[in-house]
Amino acid sequence: AWFEMVDLFSALRGMFKPMLENHSVALIFEEPQGLMRLYTDDRKVSHILRNFVSNALKFTEAGEVRVSARREGQSQVRFAVADTGIGIAQEHLAAVFDDFSQVASPIQKRLRGTGLGLALCRQLATLLGGEVGVRSELGKGSTFFLVLPMQLSEASPNRDVLA
Ligand code: ATP
Ligand code: MG
Repeated sequence: AWFEMVDLFSALRGMFKPMLENHSVALIFEEPQGLMRLYTDDRKVSHILRNFVSNALKFTEAGEVRVSARREGQSQVRFAVADTGIGIAQEHLAAVFDDFSQVASPIQKRLRGTGLGLALCRQLATLLGGEVGVRSELGKGSTFFLVLPMQLSEASPNRDVLA
C-alpha cells in the first residue's frame, strides 16, 4: 500500500523510545531525501528497519544510530541504519545475513539472540524485490542498508517534514 515516510519513521521512533531512556546512544531519524510517499509492503519494510535499529542499539555503547532514506535514480530507494558501535570484521561481513550467524566475541556473549534477525531481513527484502547489505569497520561502526525498487511519489500534499 501507499504509505508516508514520516509515518514509518515516527512509528519506529515511538517503538524504540522506551528503550532509549537509559541509553547513552541517540536515535536519529533524518528527513527523507527526495521521497515522501512510497508504494510497497510497509509492514515488511518496517520489520527490516526495526531489526536493523534493534541490532544497532544492541551493539553500540555510545554515540548514535542514524536512520535515513533517500531516493536513488528513478526507481529505487535506499534506507540506511548507521551506528557508531563495535563494528564487524571484514571476514565476518559476508555471513551476517546467514541463518544463525553470530560473530563470536566475549563482548557479544551477553548480547546473544538467536542469530536469525538478519536472515529474516534478507528474506523479506527478497520478497520485496530488493536487497540488504552492510558496510562496517571494526571498532568504528556499521551501516546496514535496504535497497528497494519502488514506485515513488514526490507529491505529498498534506504532510511536510518530520516532526
Ligand atoms: P536476533 O536478532 O535473532 O536476536 P542477533 O541479533 O545476534 O540475534 P542477527 O540480528 O541476525 O542476530 O545478527 C547477526 C550477527 O551480526 C549478530 O550476532 C552480530 O554479531 C552481528 N551484527 C548485527 N548487527 C550488528 C551491528 N549493528 N553492529 C555489530 N554487529 C552486528
Ligand atoms: Mg538481531
